[in-house]
Amino acid sequence: MMSSASPFNARRLEGKVAIVTASTDGIGFSIARRLGHEGAKVMVSSRKQKNVDSAVMQLKKEKLDVTGMVCHVGKADDRSKLISETAEKYGGIDIIVSNAAANPHLGQILDINEAQWDKIFDINVKSAFFLVKEAIPHMEKRGGGSVVFVSSIGGYNPFELIAPYSVSKTALFGLVKGLVPQLSSMNIRVNAIAPGIIKTSFSSALWHDDKTEKEVASHIPMKRLGVPDECAGAVAFLVSDDGSFITGETIVMAGGVSSRL
Ligand code: NAP
Repeated sequence: MMSSASPFNARRLEGKVAIVTASTDGIGFSIARRLGHEGAKVMVSSRKQKNVDSAVMQLKKEKLDVTGMVCHVGKADDRSKLISETAEKYGGIDIIVSNAAANPHLGQILDINEAQWDKIFDINVKSAFFLVKEAIPHMEKRGGGSVVFVSSIGGYNPFELIAPYSVSKTALFGLVKGLVPQLSSMNIRVNAIAPGIIKTSFSSALWHDDKTEKEVASHIPMKRLGVPDECAGAVAFLVSDDGSFITGETIVMAGGVSSRL
């Protein structure tokens, strides 16, 4: 039955348990909210307790079944706690969305130093993989599940000033494919989304004033930037039974920007 409080018209995730990382703001928050409105119990997390508290409060006001905890995805202990506490609280895990990313370098690719490079790949690729690896046994116990990595259109066309970050997002396309054989045998699907420029604080330099936003939008075939809910809808589709034969794929939501490698 559809909740009258829900602004969405589908309840495809009734009874499911979902983890979304970096979900106190932006795209992650929107994904957590959408999965919650579709009936999932959701564990919300990010690095700062105050952000967790305010996101949970906001989602609870919408009558969603959410819990929150601190998890810096670069910290192995935080990742383990996120997985074990979710499984303990909700009795299992069905869905995991790896959404956290870092970009400590803004500038030409040859100006990056090794520590910045390591941080990008540590958070965006390695931590994403190990987080999912740790959730897999819980999904296997449930007889299946669904994984989504948040990549980027930059993974196809590296943005000049954030090229190493973009390359880390390209790695996620390969990671998704690399996980398919083993996860398929466990009835777990694994996909990614590749958002274009979405209006969040992460991209605020590209839309902080009207003139900049118009200039950025002029390079996008749909002549506008995206909003977080336009990513959340695709994730909800992928993790629901509507996506039941889709695995190893990346769905692009970039307003028509080219997405070939
Ligand atoms: P955002 O609005 O800036 O939100 C970032 C969220 O991540 C916050 O909740 C933040 O909370 C949390 N966070 C940051 N570092 C974290 C870490 N190490 N561990 C756990 N949580 C962390 O960012 P966004 O634009 O939604 O980006 C989300 C994802 O979408 C990223 O993977 C990004 O690469 C991807 N993406 C974004 C765009 C875009 O245009 N916005 C386009 C393509 C892809 P705390 O500060 O409390 O940790």
